[in-house]
This record gives sequence, structure tokens and C-alpha cells, in this order.
Amino acid sequence: MGILCYNYLAVKVRRTTVKMKCSRIARVERKTRSYILVSFVAFAGAIALAGVPFLQARAEGYVWESAYTRYRFAVDAASGSGDCMQLSDVALYDETGAAIPSSAFKLSFDSGLHGLEGVSATSPDGEGPENAVDGDTGTKWLDWRGGRDATEEQRAAVYLEFRFAAPKKLSGYAWFTASDSPDRNPSAWRFLASNDGASWTELDAVTGFRSSDAFRSMAFKRNFADIPLYRFKVDATKFPDIAKLVEEKFRRPIEAMSPKVMTLLDGEGAKWTGGEITIIPTDEKGCAWTTGGGKIWLCNGFVKRCPGEVVGACLHEFGHLVQDYRPLEGRADPYDSGPGWLCEGIVDWVRWFHMEGAEGIKDANEGAKKEPKFDDGYGTSASFLDYIARTYDRDFVAKLNKTCRDGRYGEGVWKSLTGRTLAELEEEWKTFLKGLDSATGK
Ligand SMILES: [Zn+2]
Repeated sequence: MGILCYNYLAVKVRRTTVKMKCSRIARVERKTRSYILVSFVAFAGAIALAGVPFLQARAEGYVWESAYTRYRFAVDAASGSGDCMQLSDVALYDETGAAIPSSAFKLSFDSGLHGLEGVSATSPDGEGPENAVDGDTGTKWLDWRGGRDATEEQRAAVYLEFRFAAPKKLSGYAWFTASDSPDRNPSAWRFLASNDGASWTELDAVTGFRSSDAFRSMAFKRNFADIPLYRFKVDATKFPDIAKLVEEKFRRPIEAMSPKVMTLLDGEGAKWTGGEITIIPTDEKGCAWTTGGGKIWLCNGFVKRCPGEVVGACLHEFGHLVQDYRPLEGRADPYDSGPGWLCEGIVDWVRWFHMEGAEGIKDANEGAKKEPKFDDGYGTSASFLDYIARTYDRDFVAKLNKTCRDGRYGEGVWKSLTGRTLAELEEEWKTFLKGLDSATGK
């Protein structure tokens, strides 16, 4: 499904054209052409000039492991029909997960009057922002500037700022609803951090949140460790209608599943910096592809033809971004990250065996059974990898992925990770496929 899966970085650029049908495991037709670039250096320079940033998938820690002196909970919108915004409490949690008492910070807010018509205050008497940090969900903070009729300028003033005397690390935050009118609950908000009050880092952003529960206080709690490290956005420049559809139907599930892709590819406890991924609708033929730089192209025809495949296809491409196979200096062949079938098999293993549920597993194994060639790429190679992961080592794929990324791939890796040669593993896998119960695919 990847058309230009990173290969543009290579000395040898393989352009792979893929046609997919709407079946869950598609028949894949590939054409391979090779382009020899005159000079890799010139090519890299051209990329640099074009301003394509490389995705920095790994670094020393989560961005929010940084300590800040200021945090902001900024409400961007109430649930829609509410005449104001309201909530009962906002809580911050320290590094150990304990709630921080309000005596530990100074609360700051914007009390400037951006009067709504007929309303001369930002909050009714006794329902000011101080209530949001009193630790009592029986009181509430109500702000007229966060309702349906508020202007953007008014909404921008609806925030709470927590100021600490010294930089403080947080593990998460939460907000609690008030006890009535769910249409006044925040439906979009950001959690921001700063050390100077001028430049702010967005630690979390939620849009389209719906809470239906009335007359009962409930919490929306975020542990930073659970927040997707990569924010996905959809580029609406060229195809606004498709972009809107992707934004409304697919962006959030993709973003929500992205941390699992990362964990599967790099193992538990790996660290990433996070960043932004842009999904760009295009009218070119195909499904989806990436060329690195945090960009995923998604074909308009594919979105219309195969809506059920969009999330999986984007997660496949996101997997390539996390794989981050790039040329390494000092290699005879700078693009030596293992064979293409393995690159594709690894991300399709994530997709079919961990993202698409039992049906996906069944389809991938059944597809592999028809023509068991471990190096066929995509779902078939994914079936091969899954057999090994389940038989020998559940972290096998993450280890293999690291080997490829580090430019250490060679056939010996199969033996060193499993004690079996590639040929032996292939025979075992074929036997496993033959014994598959076609009713379950497992
Ligand atoms: Zn691919």
C-alpha cells in the first residue's frame, strides 16, 4: 500500500505502484522500477532545500517530561448548544500521580470583560474561576464567554493558568463536569505549558469531546503517558471536502491508535519525542503513501471507494514514519535497512495482527495460506512475522525493526533472534498455515 515508502531517500529509489481492491486483504500488484541518482549528496541537499524535515521519532524523553512554571487549561468551545461554558474542577497531578493542592500554585485568569450582550460579567456571582481549584465538585466555574454566541476573542479569554514558583513536572491533568447542563461542558480544549508566559507548548489538545452525562459530576482525566505523541492534522488546502471527511471520520481514530503502533514497533518503554503528522488528500491514483517528513498522502478515490480501509492504511504509513529507516553514513550501501518485503511486512503485522481485530488476523493468515511466500510483503509477510512472534518471542518484531533501522540487517538475524534459520522458519510457518482452522484463521 505504500507507494513511496521512504524509498526516495535511497540511492536506489524503488517506485512501487500498488493497486488495491476493497477486500480486507487486498491483492497487491507491484511494479518495480529503479532510479539511480547521480549523487546522493545532491539529492539530500535538494531535500534540505525543499525544507522537508525528517521525522524525529526518538529522543531522550517525552516533551512533557520537561518542567514548566506555568500551565494553562484553555477551553476552546462548549459542547455546542450551551449558553456558556462550565465545569466544576480542574486538577493537576504531580510526577507521582498525586493531585497538587491549590496552595502549591497561584491561579491566574483573564477577568477582562468581553461582555456578551446583556451580560455584564464573565461569571455569575459565586461561580468564578476560583471554584475550579477549590477541590469541591459541588461548586462550579461558569464563564459566559465560552458559550455558543461567544466570539473567538471571548473564547480565547476562557482559561485557567496555574503558576508555580519553580518549574514543576506533571504526569497529567483532569477536569470535572458540573452537576447539570452537559451542553455547557467543554468540548474542545488545550493544555499548555510555558516558562515565560510568552511562548506556550501544547501538551494536549482535544476536540469534538462529547459528554452526555447530566446531573452527575464526572472526570475527564489525562495521563500524559496515554496522550498520543503524534498529533495528526488534515491538510485542507487542495481538497477541502475530502479533508473535512477525513477530519470528521478518520483523524481521531488514527491518532488514538498511533501510540500502539509505536509500542509495537519499538517495544515497551521506548521513548519518542512526538510531533505532528499531516495527512494530505491527493487526487493521484493509489491508496496512501509517505515520503517521510511527517507527511502521509491519502488518495481521494481511495477514501471514497474504501472508507473501511482508511484508518488502517494511514496507520500503515504512520508505521513507516516510526520505522524511520534512513540512510546511514559510512555504509557501502547507505540504504541498507533490510529488504522491502520486510519493511512492508513489519508495518502490515502491526496493522492486521494488532489493529484490525480477529477478522484482520484471519484474513491475513488465510491470504498467506493461498500462496505462502514469506517474502511476498504486506499481509503475507505479516503472517510469517506473527507466527515467529507468537512462537518464539513476543518482542521479535520490535527487535527486527531495530535491526533494520540500525542498518544491521542480514540473514543471520533470524538465527540470532530465534535460533532458527530463515529457511527453517519458513518451513515451520508453512506447516502452521496448513494446519490452520479456516473457520478461525488462527
Ligand atoms: Zn508501505
